[in-house]
Amino acid sequence: MLNSEINSSALVLFSGGQDSTTCLAWALTHFDKVETIGFNYGQRHQVEMTCRKEVLKSIRKSFPNWGEKLGDDHVLDLDILGKISDTSLTQDKAISFAKSGLPNTFVPGRNLLFFTFAATIAYRRSLKLLVGGMCETDYSGYPDCRDNTLKSLQVSLSLGMDVPVVIDTPLMWLDKRATWELAKELGGEALLSIIVKDTHTCYLGDRTTLHSWGYGCNQCPACELRSSGFLKFMQKSD
Ligand code: ZN
Repeated sequence: MLNSEINSSALVLFSGGQDSTTCLAWALTHFDKVETIGFNYGQRHQVEMTCRKEVLKSIRKSFPNWGEKLGDDHVLDLDILGKISDTSLTQDKAISFAKSGLPNTFVPGRNLLFFTFAATIAYRRSLKLLVGGMCETDYSGYPDCRDNTLKSLQVSLSLGMDVPVVIDTPLMWLDKRATWELAKELGGEALLSIIVKDTHTCYLGDRTTLHSWGYGCNQCPACELRSSGFLKFMQKSD
């Protein structure tokens, strides 16, 4: 069990999607002080950056007790990441990615960089834990989402900063159905409603149609995962 004295504060990697919103609710349930961090890295669409502000607003409104614990939201401009990971600039690499079976949405080493920047902010803000929504169950293709990758990064950051840095990934072994279930446990219907209406997951940034599971194109891999997880969750709830 974590020492609540030592680990009473957390910095959540918060993108405005379903997973990081569930992680934020998890952190607000467990810790006294919670701050959030988001990264602007030239994503194909800016929907995520807009949604994350809406989600924070809705959480403050629907959960006043969580709102009291919710501190600053840090947004870091990592434009350079978008520039150097652009596969059209590095065609040879694009071909080798295709061979490895990873989707073209993969930004190499993204989570390593995100956690390193988050650790720098956490150090300055005296926040003890870093929380991220990475998961091996649904996204086993992304090597920087793996449990061992993040455990090794935790050791590197702790050594490199000479303070205990703890990376917590509450969704690591959950599938999407279980992630919906966790959200319900943490914040009931009010949190489910925020996740459905305010969070964003669709790769294409489509927010034209509200489905039972949220907005999205209903065709890209992210929509497919989110909707099938939601349908399984609803079947189990019936
Ligand atoms: Zn989609």
